[in-house]
Amino acid sequence: MNKTISILGATGSIGRQTLDVVEKLDLKVEALTANSDVKRIEEQARKFRPRMVAMANEAAAQDLAARLADTNIRVSGGAAALTEAATMGGTVVTAVVGMVGLKPTLAAIRAGKRIALANKETLVCAGELVMETARKYGAEIIPVDSEHSAIFQCLRGIRDMEEVRRLILTCSGGPFYGKTWEELAPMTSADALKHPNWRMGPKITVDCATLMNKGLEVIEAMRLYRLPLEKVHVVIHRQSIVHSLVEFRDGAVLAQLGAPDMRLPIQYALTYPHRVESPADTLDLLTCPPLTFAEPDRTTFPCLRLAEEAVKTGGTACAILNAANEEAVKLYLRDKIGFYDIPRLVSRALETVPVVQNPTLQDILDADAAARRQVF
Ligand code: NDP
Ligand code: MG
Repeated sequence: MNKTISILGATGSIGRQTLDVVEKLDLKVEALTANSDVKRIEEQARKFRPRMVAMANEAAAQDLAARLADTNIRVSGGAAALTEAATMGGTVVTAVVGMVGLKPTLAAIRAGKRIALANKETLVCAGELVMETARKYGAEIIPVDSEHSAIFQCLRGIRDMEEVRRLILTCSGGPFYGKTWEELAPMTSADALKHPNWRMGPKITVDCATLMNKGLEVIEAMRLYRLPLEKVHVVIHRQSIVHSLVEFRDGAVLAQLGAPDMRLPIQYALTYPHRVESPADTLDLLTCPPLTFAEPDRTTFPCLRLAEEAVKTGGTACAILNAANEEAVKLYLRDKIGFYDIPRLVSRALETVPVVQNPTLQDILDADAAARRQVF
């Protein structure tokens, strides 16, 4: 296990849970990053004593530098600082939200780090490029997302991916499961933020309510495991106890189960191939609710279908989908648009922004910018 670590997005939901794990594993923190939450990152920096702290927001970096003036911790600001932090430590946890994680993730890959990857938007926008770069530089990418960690665990020891008939991603269904279009149309971000099983950052929580999160995860799984869309299925599983499953060609199905606690997949990404004691809750089969499974409703929740269509189109379509969704979710969180405006705006961006096949990094960045301009 690498004894040193950098955490990009340390102040967020995944970042804070990572620090919980880091404390138990007694790892040395080399760098922490955030955007603007100066108060929280100051507390984290005083406790974990990294060599460097990077703030994406320059004004926040100046504020933090003044607050940490009595320490020997270096404080930097801006995108370059984030990228520098991504090249420190043996393992880099990518827990920033959104496509801003792409360049730092690529920097960590080029530096040959182990990447504990939570930032799924990076794999959605540029998954083929990211995975190809990782192969070239021999960087390990270990998923943190609970479904992809479950699959990673079920695939341990497999030699030939041809033996996999399909992956089955489980989906909690989010706070709006079972509701009709008419009931959902007036739902505000306050309603969407009440997730039944997980406490997460606001963007992913809204993505769970629209099922866009599962759409992003289908693409994430295809990139991580180099599988076509036909081999990645989604089932609704309200209890979030079966984290995902792999069906093999002989009909055997392996699953990973556990209490819904992100500290388990976070820790596994840090300790793999080893397993050690964890602060995560343990599963009690005798008291847990009955496990149920159902088909997702792609008509009432069109974002899942939009994501599946984007990945079929290929090229920059997934970057367009992701960027439009990021912007639409920002508007929804500020109560500027309604629930069904999210798929409407994503769909419009997919129809209007031209798709480039076999994209370069620059093509992806351009598609991302063009899609964001379509969302208003
Ligand atoms: P949060 O919103 O809780 O945290 C986001 C982190 O990213 C914060 O540290 C934030 O800093 C930082 N950040 C935000 N904007 C920027 C920016 N422009 N530049 C640099 N840093 C920025 O998100 P989550 O922890 O919930 O999610 C992080 C990632 O992990 C997402 O990609 C999500 O999809 C994925 N994920 C999350 C899960 C969860 O349980 N939360 C589960 C599976 C995947 P600041 O605090 O200063 O704003
Ligand atoms: Mg997930």
